[in-house]
Amino acid sequence: MPKKPEKESFVTEITPRSQDFSKWYLDVVARAELADYSPVKGCMVIRPYGYAIWELIQQALDRRIKASGHVNAYFPLFIPESLLNKEAEHVEGFAPQVAYVTHGGGELLAEKLVVRPTSEAIIGTMYAKWVQSWRDLPILINQWANVVRWEKVTRPFLRTTEFLWQEGHTAHETEEEAEAETLQILAMYKDTVETEMAVPVIEGRKSESEKFAGASRTYSIEALMGDGRALQAGTSHNLGQNFAKAFDITFQARDKSVQHVWGTSWGMTTRLVGAAIMVHGDDSGLVLPPRIAPFQVVIVPIGRDNWRETVLPTAQAIRQELAAAGIRVTLDDRDERPGWKFSEWEMRGVPLRLEIGPKDIEKSAVLLARRDTREKLGVPMDGIAARVRGLLDEIQQHLFERALAFRDEHTQRVTSYDEFKQVLEGRPGFVIAPWCGSVECEARIKADTQATIRNMPIDGAKPAGRCIRCDQESIAEAWFAKSY
Ligand SMILES: [Zn+2]
Repeated sequence: MPKKPEKESFVTEITPRSQDFSKWYLDVVARAELADYSPVKGCMVIRPYGYAIWELIQQALDRRIKASGHVNAYFPLFIPESLLNKEAEHVEGFAPQVAYVTHGGGELLAEKLVVRPTSEAIIGTMYAKWVQSWRDLPILINQWANVVRWEKVTRPFLRTTEFLWQEGHTAHETEEEAEAETLQILAMYKDTVETEMAVPVIEGRKSESEKFAGASRTYSIEALMGDGRALQAGTSHNLGQNFAKAFDITFQARDKSVQHVWGTSWGMTTRLVGAAIMVHGDDSGLVLPPRIAPFQVVIVPIGRDNWRETVLPTAQAIRQELAAAGIRVTLDDRDERPGWKFSEWEMRGVPLRLEIGPKDIEKSAVLLARRDTREKLGVPMDGIAARVRGLLDEIQQHLFERALAFRDEHTQRVTSYDEFKQVLEGRPGFVIAPWCGSVECEARIKADTQATIRNMPIDGAKPAGRCIRCDQESIAEAWFAKSY
């Protein structure tokens, strides 16, 4: 039997998406060297290629956070247990997932320390010291950090016991200001995920049962993954005065009265890397949007045995030209066959492959291959940087439109519970349905179908129809989905 072409055998190492999406995801994470399992159960190691993707997302978000007037700071990893216990709902919500430090320096600690699951408690304690007058407000602080939430079932990037994130914590004079901040951040999150990651999201308000422990209101952005499950991509919480009262964050108001501040907190995490994989990837592996691709272009020299003499110098010159134009480019000059390299970089999701061989050099041209459409284009070397830049923008746009079309195809509006259940048994995705607002109906729906309310439109447009579960008047058209 003839030997299989190398490319084919290479690709079969990834389980097809349609066959087993979950296995496909884990295969891509492993094969593309994004993350690895660690000796600590539930904790992942983010490998350099995965970390480079995270860094690009992180930097894009950090730029927006700073441009909107927020500043970065850093608070301790450990929180005295008594501080976490101050806000009743907060501690109840997080207690099952908390990790404690009981010993330090070989001695039993007088008070257990919590490894932060989130930092409201420690930051609120500091704000109580820092805020005296309305002149000290608002406080607009963000922190980049790791947090720990003990998880039973974990999956790289999507749910891990330790993960990286940013957490913003702000304090304001008025309720209106806090609400405006919460929504401003939500819009910033949406812009980051849609613009940088080419992942369309729906923004909305969480139901009472799905809101952050201790918040007055939680808003989220939700994305649809390639298997039709939703993923919460970011949350922004209006904390009201709950934490201000628990941590005694007061200020002298303009009218000289003493009041509690109004707070917000908000976060996005390394699970965004998982979202990028699951929204854009295909059977050959990753498909990275150019803006978060560690390498936007890979140059692969083609040629006979003497390619190092005939092709490599021109390939190097092109690399320099692209790099000088601010394009992230790598040149694969390893001694492997070009076909093997093609598969390797396809699997790693590099948006554009630039092939160059002796004949191309004669014609003063190169071949560009798009990862998203697999289209191949002959392009003159002259003006190559501008052409590549234009193509990268096109790919970014195309990936967003493709994801949006997929979401639209997998979003249905229903008016009866039978229809609702039927849709969720078949092709998964978002199901928009009227809901009465009762916790009981929400719980029943979840028990019957595994679908939860992802969020509800913020504008609160008067919903048509009656609750699909109980037939009472609805308060909102909720977006339901099975989720990660
Ligand atoms: Zn109902």
